[in-house]
Amino acid sequence: MGFEEYYRAFPTYTDLKSQEYRKRLDDLEPLLIKYMKRKGKVLDLACGVGGFSFLLEDHGFEVVGIDISEDMIARAKRYAQERESKVEFILGDAKNLPFNDRDFDYVIFIDSLVHFTPLELNQVFKEVRRVLKPDGKFIIQFTDLRELLPRLKESLVVGQEYWISKIIPDQEEKTVVLEFQSENNSFRVRFNIWGKTAVELLGKLYFRKEAQEKINDYSYLIVYQLK
Ligand code: SAM
Repeated sequence: MGFEEYYRAFPTYTDLKSQEYRKRLDDLEPLLIKYMKRKGKVLDLACGVGGFSFLLEDHGFEVVGIDISEDMIARAKRYAQERESKVEFILGDAKNLPFNDRDFDYVIFIDSLVHFTPLELNQVFKEVRRVLKPDGKFIIQFTDLRELLPRLKESLVVGQEYWISKIIPDQEEKTVVLEFQSENNSFRVRFNIWGKTAVELLGKLYFRKEAQEKINDYSYLIVYQLK
């Protein structure tokens, strides 16, 4: 049970040229640009294959992407070569960042909360605070799984091939195991369940909220500054 099969099954996070990936870029681009008026150095935290890194590079930012998956970083580097991009992609852990204090003007953290337990996310937020310049911004985008979960039962088809065949929350509803099924494949993934309120509570510990945008029914973008 793991994310490898999930990322193999859905192009949303792995194929920059897929409609699904393009839609995510198109939905977020105006919002990122709205809150990133000043050019500077950006850390794309949990960058995956790097779509948002390239987007911001195209807008004139200097970008470093970091991800814990060798496969994601290898793919990002291949895309970078294809595009003759200068984005630097680094293999590393968001909980223990290999950067100096006050190194970045922005940290963006997109669609990655499901990988982190509350204790781990606390560590990530602390690291973000450490690597941000005093006037830097932390921009986080996430889906409120707590809100979405009860609705999943109503629309079980995901992407082109898969449907969700089982939804198994743990007793405390901190995580949920989803079983994805297609004609000839089946796999399970455990997601950490994050709700907007929980993210905001944690955010409050380390940051000051500058703005919040609702992207769609369950997806939010929050812009934080250092306290
Ligand atoms: N931000 C990218 C995007 O929007 O396309 C990737 C999103 S993908 C859903 C989540 C990413 O988080 C994966 O690439 C995964 O490898 C990465 N990840 C998970 N745990 C991590 C950690 N501890 N440190 C850095 N990256 C991590």
